[in-house]
Amino acid sequence: MEKTADIVEAVKRAGITGAGGAGFPTHVKLQAQAEYLLANGAECEPLTHVDKQLMLHHAAEVVEGMRLGMQATGAKQGIFGIKGKYKEVIASIQSAIKPGDNITVSELGNFYPAGDEQVMVYDILGRIVPEGGLPINVGCVVQNIETLYNISAAAQGKPFTHKYLTVIGAVAKPMSVRVPIGITIQEVLDLAGGVLTPDPVILDGGAMMGAVVTDFSQPITKRSKMLLVLPYDHQLSVKRRTPRVVIDNHAIAACDQCYFCTDYCPRHAQGHAIEPHKLILLLASGVPLTDAQMAGAMLCCECRTCNYACPVHLAPGDIALNIKRDLVKAGMKNPYHRQTEASPYRDYRRVPMTRLISRLGLVKYDVPAPLTAVSQTFTRVTLKLSQHIGAPAQPVVKVGDKVSLGDMIGKIPAGALGVPLHASIDGVVREVTNEAIVIEAN
Ligand code: SF4
Ligand code: SF4
Repeated sequence: MEKTADIVEAVKRAGITGAGGAGFPTHVKLQAQAEYLLANGAECEPLTHVDKQLMLHHAAEVVEGMRLGMQATGAKQGIFGIKGKYKEVIASIQSAIKPGDNITVSELGNFYPAGDEQVMVYDILGRIVPEGGLPINVGCVVQNIETLYNISAAAQGKPFTHKYLTVIGAVAKPMSVRVPIGITIQEVLDLAGGVLTPDPVILDGGAMMGAVVTDFSQPITKRSKMLLVLPYDHQLSVKRRTPRVVIDNHAIAACDQCYFCTDYCPRHAQGHAIEPHKLILLLASGVPLTDAQMAGAMLCCECRTCNYACPVHLAPGDIALNIKRDLVKAGMKNPYHRQTEASPYRDYRRVPMTRLISRLGLVKYDVPAPLTAVSQTFTRVTLKLSQHIGAPAQPVVKVGDKVSLGDMIGKIPAGALGVPLHASIDGVVREVTNEAIVIEAN
């Protein structure tokens, strides 16, 4: 594409959001002017395998997405952040880079959370994102690998209709697949040969940052990245289903203020004013807390690294993120905006991935999940109108309309932040609600 505006417009038309994470509209991110475009290939959630395989099997498209993203943002340099241990993946990306592209690969350590975008910006460029800030504050835009792949598809006129994700854990055939957005979680489990445990619990998004799901009729969305299937009584499943009041009371009773949680917090290590041990001290005081006392929680990135660090298996990360969500719901804005410096101890406070997997009780599930072609057709999809940050898509179809794969079925409401929605199978519109559009194959 020749013009920057054409790239942004194509990405907007294609309905692309960040593939994983919060689902921020990509066309908005591409309108920023940056010095660097970083590709987040760290894939730091334990047992995730999607991005590595996209870089292995679709390197040309991923690198083309980087070129287009650089053109849109004016970035003079593109850098892939990939763990150094993935030699084959690095070689694959390097072979797709052409002379003059000004794209390089930066090798990352095998730590968690190497893929936190602020951690990655510091590891690659030595720049600290200010408190409550974004990478663009220090001249960077960070894009996910699958998002780069989708940008390159958008330039070919292909909308965002299918999702790559890994299904792993207590399933017969762990795999990574490309499936239509809107099929059910159960259908993905069936592709993986079914679950191997009664009463399974899924962490949708992974062991550290994923959300607990027990209703497998829920649809796959643009943000789905990983389904980690666990037995009901697995330590991680139990821990993540523990009610908040129990989490808080355990911490009040057992926290010895050893400070390890704060020491290992990757945002605290950047000098940010987040101190999970202090939040527990405040809870334990027994007096009503003021918003100002809790405001440091606004800087929590919800990585749960501090849970790993706690020697007595408390969940300071859950405490911090619950407080943060309460404050956000109450309309509080982050009051911290300092430009900070990294702690001199930062590099000694990294969490090795192998230790993390062991501590989480996931060693037996640490197996390959190869990218596997899906031959089966799907007969029904439920496409949520809100799968992204911003206003829900506004339906432009009605019950009974015939639609084809890729047709736009929801538009961005006038003047709002959002993305359009597209049919992910051929079929007939069966339901249009305030929440979703259901399409069934003819
Ligand atoms: S979850 Fe814990 S380690 Fe992660 S940012 Fe929040 S307080 Fe820090
Ligand atoms: S690491 Fe655990 S025990 Fe230590 S201060 Fe943090 S929550 Fe308390």
